[in-house]
Amino acid sequence: MSSEVVELLRQLIRIDTTNPPGNETAAAELLRDYLEAAGVECELYARVPERANLVARIRGRGGGPSLAFLSHTDVVLADPAEWERDPFDGALVADEVWGRGALDMKGEVAASAVAIASLAREGWRGSGDLIFVAAADEEVGDGFGLQWLVEEHPDAVRADFSLNEGAGDRVELGGRAFYLCATAEKMSAPFRLRVHGRSGHASMPGIADNALVKAAPLVERLGAFSAEPQLIPEVEAFLRAVLGSAPAADGALTAARDVSPLAAELIEPLLAMTVAPTMARASDKRNVIPAVCEITVDVRLLPGQTPEQAEAELRAWLGGGDYELENYERQGGTRSPIGGPLWEAVQSFVEAEEPGAAAAPTCVAGFTDSHWLRQAFGTIAYGFFPARAMDSEVAARLIHSANERVPVADLELGLRFLRHAAQDVCA
Ligand SMILES: [Zn+2]
Repeated sequence: MSSEVVELLRQLIRIDTTNPPGNETAAAELLRDYLEAAGVECELYARVPERANLVARIRGRGGGPSLAFLSHTDVVLADPAEWERDPFDGALVADEVWGRGALDMKGEVAASAVAIASLAREGWRGSGDLIFVAAADEEVGDGFGLQWLVEEHPDAVRADFSLNEGAGDRVELGGRAFYLCATAEKMSAPFRLRVHGRSGHASMPGIADNALVKAAPLVERLGAFSAEPQLIPEVEAFLRAVLGSAPAADGALTAARDVSPLAAELIEPLLAMTVAPTMARASDKRNVIPAVCEITVDVRLLPGQTPEQAEAELRAWLGGGDYELENYERQGGTRSPIGGPLWEAVQSFVEAEEPGAAAAPTCVAGFTDSHWLRQAFGTIAYGFFPARAMDSEVAARLIHSANERVPVADLELGLRFLRHAAQDVCA
């Protein structure tokens, strides 16, 4: 099975699914051919022919919960000039598979496919369905992937539980090993701040009212934003796992830092909404004083918080002035409960693989395809693909970057976990 997952990953990397344009159909067909040879039922779903999603399934005997292995086949751009090796060659060097998508996330695609194929070959069948979804278009999200599947083919992708990317990395905190499992995600809720003034010729600043200058103190104020910390259930459970107890919200960061600086780093963005001004636009001409200055503000909310609450908080923080503030997008912000059969499968796997280690929940600062399933079906969706051969900080730097690669040992670890989870959850 080890050489099988390595070979399948190398083949997937050699299919260039850079999104845009994606061209995920070639990857979906490769997976279909591989799975059908193992006797797994497959179906391709495509909004346009060149961007197919694959859904494969081992039907359950009935009565038990269903589990979906969720993944995406598209990858982000790779500039070969920045790489030490061809990003679309899938080279196997010193027990690592190199190539775009090795970590994000063709490695997990391959492990999921081999997990379901090997179970099918063994004649395994659960009480509920075991489903494998290799979706298109996760990296851009133009409506060809899981969002489209959930809307147009809900019966194909409905599941009680799901496993996806998002976490699984091993961290050492206070001398003990923890494997992080993403059970929730923050909401991305960007705002636009529009500051008003009066235009005029730049040679006579006195007769105008410069919107850019008026925006400056507001930008500075946004940069200094800090909200009252609060303990969301994910951070509380994380602290209980790491510290043995959960401190009060305002002491959480210090308590985490006392165990390890990394523990503090992990929880800091999860104690409150974060605010970061990232883009500015004012005059298009050097000699024209701008009447309007527009600032784009990246805002990430805790799961459960709404953009309306954030707007009220930001207005109170900024005070009065000649500006408009509006939220123009919202995405993610969903959570699944910590506990139950899938959580137990994660925990029992970690304890068996590494005695003394434990699973600890986390909330991801970005969002993954998991939120489509949580929103549509109430699926209990976790981001967990365990990794320990590669240091988690090294892996984080390689994702979406040059020289992306994955250790064979981590592919094998992930494969063992997925097989364990299927047999445990769909028993
Ligand atoms: Zn990804």
